[in-house]
Amino acid sequence: MSVLPILTLGDPRLRMRGQPVDSFGKYLHGLIDDLTQTMRDAPGVGLAAPQLGVALDVAVVEVSGRLFELVNPRIVRASGDDRDLEGCLSVPGFFAYVTRNEKVRLVAQDRHGKKQTYAGSGLLARAFQHELDHLDGKLFIDYLTDLETELIPLGALEEAGVDAETREAVGRRG
Ligand code: ZN
Repeated sequence: MSVLPILTLGDPRLRMRGQPVDSFGKYLHGLIDDLTQTMRDAPGVGLAAPQLGVALDVAVVEVSGRLFELVNPRIVRASGDDRDLEGCLSVPGFFAYVTRNEKVRLVAQDRHGKKQTYAGSGLLARAFQHELDHLDGKLFIDYLTDLETELIPLGALEEAGVDAETREAVGRRG
């Protein structure tokens, strides 16, 4: 397991689409372990393989102490709207309000290739959607129409009216 450098905005590898995984062996397990350790070190609530420069459909999410290892994930049901503050480990120092589905259900394979179904709401649903976007080469800033006004620097969250509890939740990045 290693903590690896996370690619940041401007690196073209962040825009690559993940390729489906069809081999569930040692390489995949090493990748998942590196993703988990790098996410925890950051810290963040999720990390996708393209953020480490690996164009594969693999991501990890960890919310409320539960770790999800997602291989070839896809959202099969989504409902509701939830607008909340969001950040990305690949866009360090900036946050923005992004509207996501409030609840999602997704199907993914685990590290052994076994199909699993997960459901999440709120922050967990947001993290699932954020990481799956990375597998499509998409970043949260793509939802913004005006980066100048909508991107909030970390140091200006209070000024922007973000409450103290949310300001402390800088871990809500993926
Ligand atoms: Zn991200």
